[in-house]
Amino acid sequence: MAFEYAPAPESRSVVDLRSSYGLFVNGEFVDGSGHAFKSVSPATEEVLAEMAEATADDVDKAVAAARRAYTRTWSKMSGAERAKYLYRIARIIQERSRELAVLESLDNGKPIRESRDVDVPLVAAYFFYYAGWADKLHHSGFGADPQPHGVAGQIIPWNFPLLMLAWKIAPALACGNTVVLKPAETTSLTALLFAEICQQADLPSGVVNIVTGAGETGQALVAHPGIDKVAFTGSTEVGKAIARTVAGTSKSVTLELGGKAANIVFDDAPLDQAVEGIVNGIFFNQGHVCCAGSRLLVQESVYDEVLMRLKRRMATLRIGDPLDKNTDVGAINSAEQLARIRELSEVGEAEGAERWSAPCKLPDRGFWFAPTVFTGVTQAHRIAREEIFGPVLSVLTFRTPAEAIEKANNTPYGLSAGVWTDKGSRILWMADRLRAGVVWANTFNRFDPTSPFGGYKESGYGREGGRHGLEAYLAH
Ligand code: NDP
Repeated sequence: MAFEYAPAPESRSVVDLRSSYGLFVNGEFVDGSGHAFKSVSPATEEVLAEMAEATADDVDKAVAAARRAYTRTWSKMSGAERAKYLYRIARIIQERSRELAVLESLDNGKPIRESRDVDVPLVAAYFFYYAGWADKLHHSGFGADPQPHGVAGQIIPWNFPLLMLAWKIAPALACGNTVVLKPAETTSLTALLFAEICQQADLPSGVVNIVTGAGETGQALVAHPGIDKVAFTGSTEVGKAIARTVAGTSKSVTLELGGKAANIVFDDAPLDQAVEGIVNGIFFNQGHVCCAGSRLLVQESVYDEVLMRLKRRMATLRIGDPLDKNTDVGAINSAEQLARIRELSEVGEAEGAERWSAPCKLPDRGFWFAPTVFTGVTQAHRIAREEIFGPVLSVLTFRTPAEAIEKANNTPYGLSAGVWTDKGSRILWMADRLRAGVVWANTFNRFDPTSPFGGYKESGYGREGGRHGLEAYLAH
């Protein structure tokens, strides 16, 4: 039975959108020297604001500000004092959570239900968590007196703009580093609201600097000789380019790159819960998730049953206005990303897989893609090998646990995996053999600040989150 839902839009009035934004350097908003560019709402194509572009010269000023703040203030401050600032930032994030959630959904296209209940609470949680470490670093297992690197250059993608900022900035500051961060071109607005929060928290000038712009701004940041540590989340292709740029320098690097995770359902799994996990695994955040469960591996004996239940569940997903509190699946982040999802889906059909999309009416304006599942997929298909980064699921089957492992590990990536089964021993057997940084058991896409996250193989190196996440920001 289908339910009719009346619209329940969250009000935009809580957000004070400016017509244009500058860069955040040395504690102040300043003009950029490059060509201004527009930030567009992916749900409506409405121009939200004009953003400044940071040139190499602007990046240089931001790095100089971060260096001054590092030498004169931040590296001299005790861990307990740094912690006070981080706790203050965490509390302001909680206080302004509605504003942050609405702005994130406007700019990124993700449903308000997710930005309000997942992204923003996690952002606060990461700041609280790392605030707790700031005065205990000598107990973190990285030496008796671990020291910060200095100035960190951080580049983040558009899928979780504020959450990726928190993953980068919170541990860096807790360890005593200062930062220059570049958000993605299409989703810079919440990073600039975070800059306001830094002002509100009286964070010393230059400890956090935000430079907006596209790939060239990122390149200038990575190549800058004043950067001691580079942290990047994004595509494997750009990650490789960054690794080449820093090769032969003394810069330390962590890379969190793509994924093509297997979500493995055994015949003894509770199927309704597994179907919820499959849906959450691939349709959460429109599938713009590096650890998305984009390859479903189903045991052959329950294949028909799982597919029937999955399609029935997909038909109930509500797609549309990201600010509507009833929305399950929001807008695709950009026209470019939509084109990539369409292209790979067409390749899937051309290669012989069978395509089924949830019956839903997509809005006329904006960037949209219906939740889609491909069956009859083989391991050779591009849709089984490449990261689509959209609401598209490829389904394969297996007969034995050994076959499931072989198929799950048959990928150049190794970021995450999911296992659905009633048997604890089987979960442990599988977890031992899956070449993935995170293995979820009877759940998927769960994040927690105490838990490390990162990949094997082409999914990158280094860990973010937990005690392990401190290591990236300490020279020990
Ligand atoms: P990118 O890797 O290009 O973007 C990630 C970040 O790096 C952005 O801030 C980007 O800036 C910046 N950047 C781009 N080029 C350079 C460079 N040469 N040097 C330094 N920084 C750079 O991802 P895309 O947005 O182009 O997405 C392409 C594909 O990558 C997606 O379809 C998806 O498959 C994958 N992806 C994976 C992510 C993950 O978390 N694993 C996240 C995002 C994308 P700007 O956005 O301003 O160009």
